[in-house]
Amino acid sequence: MTLPGTVQPPTALTIAGSDSGGGAGAQADLKTFLSCHVHGMSAITAVTVQNSLGVTGFYELPPQAVAEQIESVATDIGVGAAKTGMLASAAIMDAVAEAVRRLKVTPLVVDPVAASQHGDPLLRPDALSALRKVILPLATLVTPNLGEVRLLTGLEVRERADMDEAAKALHALGPQWVLVKGGHLPGGDAVDVLYDGSTFAEFAAPRRTTEHTHGSGDTLAAAITAGLARGLDVPAAVELGKAFITGAVAGSFPLGAGLGPVGHFW
Ligand code: PLP
Repeated sequence: MTLPGTVQPPTALTIAGSDSGGGAGAQADLKTFLSCHVHGMSAITAVTVQNSLGVTGFYELPPQAVAEQIESVATDIGVGAAKTGMLASAAIMDAVAEAVRRLKVTPLVVDPVAASQHGDPLLRPDALSALRKVILPLATLVTPNLGEVRLLTGLEVRERADMDEAAKALHALGPQWVLVKGGHLPGGDAVDVLYDGSTFAEFAAPRRTTEHTHGSGDTLAAAITAGLARGLDVPAAVELGKAFITGAVAGSFPLGAGLGPVGHFW
């Protein structure tokens, strides 16, 4: 018999912004890690002022403080897998990239967060080129939605057929795997395309029927990260992530006067 407390769970780190409303960002990631039975850790990059109506401001942490948080947990607890969310500025990206390389933080899932669903910016405009040049080459997997595809590659994805070209253009920026999320395309199922530089795989899930999907991108990337921390390979972790986000959207709920969050109790 194994006594409680003697078995160490898998560990995962989120490098992300805080959402005071609790539905997205580091809070969503930590809840997702817990739901996936993974011990979650956080390196906070910025503190957003946010509720269900949107983001009214954010305060960045000093880049050195972000790097020190990563170093602190990596050198003691150990990081089974990590993800990045809101990185806010080019200076924070430089510090994160340096720490990730030096401490060999891998596998790394990059959710290239640029704006909230309300359209509020979560990235300084001058940080886009750092996201492309400094962060994407470190990614085991990058998980852009179609708006982020446009920002990163200039490509407009209008239909399923355009998604393969977008995946190729993103792969050329350096990540090992690309998951282009097609949730915003019209049509029956929501189809995501996974690409590793040679093979395309499709992941389909029923389309969302609720507007309460705050935190859905973070939650998907966090569930994939949890899968990697548990030892799954990338396609299996994406499959777990899709199943998790489908359940989380089904469990979403209204909150405040605006957009409610996906549920993490799944
Ligand atoms: N706030 C933070 C800190 C985030 O990281 C994100 C998304 O990554 C959001 C807000 C926006 O979430 P959504 O686009 O689901 O509203």
